[in-house]
Amino acid sequence: MSDLRELYQEQILDHNKQPRNFRPIAEPTARAEGHNRSCGDQLTVYLKLDNDVIQDISFEGKGCAISKASASMMTAALKGKTVQEAEAIFETFHEMVAGEEELEETELEQLGKLAAFSGVREYPSRVKCASLAWHTLHAALDSPEAIEAPVSTE
Ligand code: ZN
Repeated sequence: MSDLRELYQEQILDHNKQPRNFRPIAEPTARAEGHNRSCGDQLTVYLKLDNDVIQDISFEGKGCAISKASASMMTAALKGKTVQEAEAIFETFHEMVAGEEELEETELEQLGKLAAFSGVREYPSRVKCASLAWHTLHAALDSPEAIEAPVSTE
């Protein structure tokens, strides 16, 4: 188990240091801003949808290592997925970090690299950091025009 933890930690550090898809999208079909005031994390998530498929997804912003790595891994995991698939992954992810029970092994496997955040559930103040990008994505999908109304995980 400690090997797994180390691997998870390495992945988070790696994505924090070299965030993937860390750039704006010139003509996004959806965009949303998210704030986590308890930590100071601020993110903008950009989306380019082709019908129901996430053709491109990216983010910008500043925040702690967890929030940045989570946004980075989210964009890497969701590119090419349909909106429905993305929502399903979000639900599983949310259950992993904030659900009442720990996920089954098979559910964790479905999350792939995102399982790196499974340890976050032991640190309630970090749950908001890890889920900020996802809530922001959710807002962008829900209401693409809601650019003026930032999401808050507080
Ligand atoms: Zn944070």
